[in-house]
Amino acid sequence: MPRKLILAALLAAPAAAQVMPAAFFDGAATIRQRVVSLPHPSAFLPAPRRGAPLASLAVGAPNRGRLVNGAELPVEGPHWRAIRPEVGRLYGTSELVDGLRWTAERLRVADPATPPLAVGDLSGAEGGRAPRHRSHQNGRDADVNFFWLDAKGAPLFSERMTSFDAKGRGVYAGKPLRFDAARNWRLVTALLTNPHFGRQVRWIFVSRGLRALLLKEGAKQGAAPGLLERAGKTLAQPPGNSHRNHFHVRLACSGEDLKLGCKNL
Ligand SMILES: [Zn+2]
Repeated sequence: MPRKLILAALLAAPAAAQVMPAAFFDGAATIRQRVVSLPHPSAFLPAPRRGAPLASLAVGAPNRGRLVNGAELPVEGPHWRAIRPEVGRLYGTSELVDGLRWTAERLRVADPATPPLAVGDLSGAEGGRAPRHRSHQNGRDADVNFFWLDAKGAPLFSERMTSFDAKGRGVYAGKPLRFDAARNWRLVTALLTNPHFGRQVRWIFVSRGLRALLLKEGAKQGAAPGLLERAGKTLAQPPGNSHRNHFHVRLACSGEDLKLGCKNL
C-alpha cells in the first residue's frame, strides 16, 4: 500500500487504545489498587545453569507483579540521564535496560546534536507497587521524556516532564518549547528496531495529537511502510492518562517470562 494511504488509515484509526481497559495503564493512581500478595518470586525461579548468570524475570503483570534479578540502569551514562534518580526506580528486565542504553547511544551516534536521552522511572529493585504509577511493577515499563527544541529550534535537554499540545507546543520555565518531531520519530524508530527488544515493544503510550505528529513525521522522513504501520499500532493514548508529557514504553513478556506466568497487558 502506498505510504500516503497507510498514513491516512493510521491517522483515521487512533481509537485502538479504547479497547484497552483503563486500569491497566500508567498514570496518577486515582484508583485504589488492591494489594494482592503473590508467592515469593523465588518460587518461580528455575535452578540456574551451572556457571550461567541467572536471567532477569518479569513475574505477573505490569500492574500487579514483581521483578526478579532486575538489571539497573545507571543514573547517568554517556548518552542518557535519569531525571528522577532520587526515587531509585531504575530497574528493569535486562532487555529493557540494555535496549534503553542501545537506543540512547544509537540516536547520538547518528546525530551528535541529540541531547542525552532523559529517562524517567522504570521499576523498583524488586518491582511491586510504585507510587504515582499503576504499572511499572515487573520491570517492563519505562518512562522516557520527549526530545525538545527551544524557540529558535535548538535541541534542549528535557530535564522535566512537560506537556505539549497537539500542535507540539509547550512551555518550560516560562519559555516556549517545541516538540522535536524529527528526533522523537527517530526515538520511536530506535525503539521499534532495537536488537535487544526484537518484536517485544508492545506499547508506546503518547497522546493522540502527538501520535499524529509522529506518524506524519515518519511519512515525511520516508519511513518504510511496514515500520509506519507498526508505529501506528504501537503508539497509543491509553484511557485515563493523556501522556502529553512523556513516552511510556512497555515491553511484552519474553518467552522465558511467559513460561513462568508473566502476563501481557
Ligand atoms: Zn509510565
